[in-house]
Amino acid sequence: MSTYDYDLFVIGAGSGGVRAARIAAGHGAKVALAEEYRFGGTCVIRGCVPKKLFVYAARFAHEFEDAAGFGWSVGERSFNWKTLVANKDKEIDRLEGLYQGTLARAGVEVFASRAELEDAHTLVLKDGRRISAKTILVATGGTPVLDDKIEGIEHAITSNEAFHLDELPPRIVVVGGGYIAVEFAGIFNGLGVDTTLAYRGEKILRGFDEDMRDGVTTSYKTLGIDVRTETVFERIEKTAAGYVGHLKGGGTVAADLFMFAIGRTPNTKNLGLQAAGVELGWNGHVVVDSNSRSSVDNIYAVGDVADRVQLTPVAIKEGHAFADSLYGGKPWNVNHDTIPTAVFSDPEIGTVGLPEYLARERYPKLDIYKSNFRPMKYTLAGRESRMIMKLLVDGQSDKVVGCHILGPDAAEIVQIVAVAMRMGATKAQFDATMALHPSAAEELVTMREKWTPPEVSA
Ligand code: FAD
Ligand code: NDP
Repeated sequence: MSTYDYDLFVIGAGSGGVRAARIAAGHGAKVALAEEYRFGGTCVIRGCVPKKLFVYAARFAHEFEDAAGFGWSVGERSFNWKTLVANKDKEIDRLEGLYQGTLARAGVEVFASRAELEDAHTLVLKDGRRISAKTILVATGGTPVLDDKIEGIEHAITSNEAFHLDELPPRIVVVGGGYIAVEFAGIFNGLGVDTTLAYRGEKILRGFDEDMRDGVTTSYKTLGIDVRTETVFERIEKTAAGYVGHLKGGGTVAADLFMFAIGRTPNTKNLGLQAAGVELGWNGHVVVDSNSRSSVDNIYAVGDVADRVQLTPVAIKEGHAFADSLYGGKPWNVNHDTIPTAVFSDPEIGTVGLPEYLARERYPKLDIYKSNFRPMKYTLAGRESRMIMKLLVDGQSDKVVGCHILGPDAAEIVQIVAVAMRMGATKAQFDATMALHPSAAEELVTMREKWTPPEVSA
């Protein structure tokens, strides 16, 4: 007989926590879970899902324009932000219900409460109740950060608030150059907001392949987004007409709203982890080994709070591996290599494997195949937007080590390329695959000519 109330206590009903709780319970463990906000976590409530719904909403602006080239007359158009938010909220409510149902059906006991650790085996709920567990899984996710060195930063919003604005601002400045800033700049622009994207470095989307970074920058400028690089704010002033951002080095930018998307911090504050002896890393994340085990034997962490790769499918897989390993007698580890990912910009980026600058470091003989073309749909639409496809191949083994696509459906295409890359596909195998015509993706199996950097070409 266990001396603990539960075999497993999960803190956080996000992507990682829900998967781990459900699978552990399915393996026969007695599981409890606490959630302090809403079931489904960041992805469902204020991340991937509502973001993608907004992305769809924003893209209709182009669809209406493109339709004219195909003979359609599209009448008077108008957009109602309140309708979008209300419909989005309804969908999120539905999904939250599904998550709650999943936990209930799995037999997980749920506490709608914050939980904190008192010691390595004891949790305290908001109402003071104490619960003991043999194993604790920290799956508390992360929170958007704001730069409190900026005077007036309290006037700025983060992605959390962006999902619930009462109305769309006429002008917005989105600060940051990562996933969220780039995606939201595209969303606001598509919905008719006069949008500035302000990034501190030389080029947005640091870490992504250069061709993707350049492609999105060009597209955003064409779409009318004011992409400002090497731009750092030191003060945000509230004025009668909205807000004025004061730039380091002089100059101002006026807007009706400032949104900061400058990264997320792991939710480990006031959780009692340090008191329990759990080691935290440089940015407050739980330090874990490849089994998601922390420095304390019975405490584990998965998802954003462990800060390996902050993506939903990664949190889900980490939660699943944890539960199978501890309770299912089927130990396995998550492989964090070759993770496909997308930036739902306008157009979107889909990417898997290494960007060119890293591939060059790792593979002395790197072959590059590139294609840059106007997708068929845009010809009649009269849209100049380009699609870029890029394959990076290790010239020694012929294995495809990177695939980067900018253009319509890039995310959908790259998901499948990731399967091939996971299987170790070679360029010869890509070439031997029959093309599917007419499609954009057929370029991936028809690119024959190696690309040579201009500086070394004859
Ligand atoms: P979360 O989903 O954040 O869940 C943690 C849960 O723990 C939360 O519900 C929180 O309320 C709860 N919690 C925290 N502390 C406590 C406590 N002490 N007691 C009880 N409960 C607690 N990823 C993608 O793969 N694709 C995308 O398109 C994508 N888009 C995104 C868009 C935005 C705007 C954001 C912010 C993120 C996006 N992400 C995307 C990232 C993705 O949302 C996260 O990687 C994922 O949600 C991490 O899951 P998790 O389980 O680690 O944490
Ligand atoms: P990111 O880490 O992706 O980007 C943060 C951006 O903010 C970078 O451009 C960074 O610049 C900049 N920055 C950091 N600190 C400051 C500062 N003090 N002042 C000004 N700029 C600063 O974080 P996000 O917030 O965009 O997203 C968090 C994570 O959520 C992502 O990394 C991703 O894992 C996940 N996500 C995934 C999505 C998807 O899969 N489509 C969508 C949204 C989020 P620099 O590059 O110079 O460091």
